[in-house]
Amino acid sequence: MSLTRLRTDFQFAIFALFCVVAILGIGPFAVYRFMHGQLLAGAVDVAILGALMLTLAYVWRGGSLERTSLFVVAITTLGCIVIGKLIGLPGALWSFPAVLANFLLVRRGYALATSLAIVLALVIDGSAFHSTVERLMYLAAVSVTCLFAYVFARRTEQQRVQLETLASRDPLTGIANRRAMERELHIAAEAFRRHRIPVGLAVLDLDHFKRVNDEHGHEAGDHVLVEFAKLVHSRCRAGDRFFRYGGEEFVLLLPGTDAAALHRLTSELREAVAEGLRAQGMPVTVSIGAAVLHAGEDNAHWLARADAAMYEAKHQGRNRAVIADGPDAATPVHAGQR
Ligand code: GH3
Ligand code: MG
Ligand code: MG
Repeated sequence: MSLTRLRTDFQFAIFALFCVVAILGIGPFAVYRFMHGQLLAGAVDVAILGALMLTLAYVWRGGSLERTSLFVVAITTLGCIVIGKLIGLPGALWSFPAVLANFLLVRRGYALATSLAIVLALVIDGSAFHSTVERLMYLAAVSVTCLFAYVFARRTEQQRVQLETLASRDPLTGIANRRAMERELHIAAEAFRRHRIPVGLAVLDLDHFKRVNDEHGHEAGDHVLVEFAKLVHSRCRAGDRFFRYGGEEFVLLLPGTDAAALHRLTSELREAVAEGLRAQGMPVTVSIGAAVLHAGEDNAHWLARADAAMYEAKHQGRNRAVIADGPDAATPVHAGQR
């Protein structure tokens, strides 16, 4: 399981790589220190090695990566300061990889604070250096490393946020896409399992949308999709999530909504669309199918029931809302049968 995570979770892979490289890098020096009677330095190395091995084992078995990374950064920061003080400049050299690792492992605010702690502690103490020039040269070199690492971490974070936005938003309507939906559905279902807060799901499909395109053009069709998204979004409560599932099909995730509330909300929504949505003056309607999550039900089945209810709404003549859990219960089908 964790082997797969190495390939799919970049932060986990970086953490594991750091621990393994640090263990392999520090291990031989611990042996060397004991062989040469430097017991205190050896003991510090062994303490760092032990802490790294334990934290790696902890995260490997599913422990919190974020908190453990902070712990590891604290350990390496302390280790760098102590080893620099104990063995001088060769020990202080470890602060260069430690600074880089800090920026890879934790948020850049923490990374900057811990990196500055290493640099300031060693420079102010000064016992690791033979002369003031050596001390100043160390300060200049490690500060430049710190600055580059900071700028690089900032840029990488900005790009990560941009990529995440691009990957989870629908470019036409600006609302979240299907990829984001899978994640949110999972979160909502987990909350239901833990706290038993009811959660509703609605599938909304615009009626005869092909006709809208055929009669008014694809661009007008696009405009209707944008207006539809705006209309539904404006009626969403805080905590509701709205997604473009694909084409002219949308999904609304409604936490804290039981079957009765789902019935009311979807009816109001259907009505608001029928009254407010137009394609060059012609009314456009929507068919809605909805379902509340049942205990023990998986997300695919839940979505499939809402989808089946939406097809039932189409079957009943469109411009309708059908609740899978209500008197209009639709036959459950599996997602693959669509
Ligand atoms: P029904 O009431 O049964 O849902 O009929 P429909 O015409 O809406 O359903 P159908 O699945 O036959 O057609 C969906 C249409 O939605 C066809 C496709 O061209 C159009 N469509 C899908 N995505 C977009 C889009 O991004 N922009 C535009 N303009 N049209 C789109
Ligand atoms: Mg349609
Ligand atoms: Mg459709």
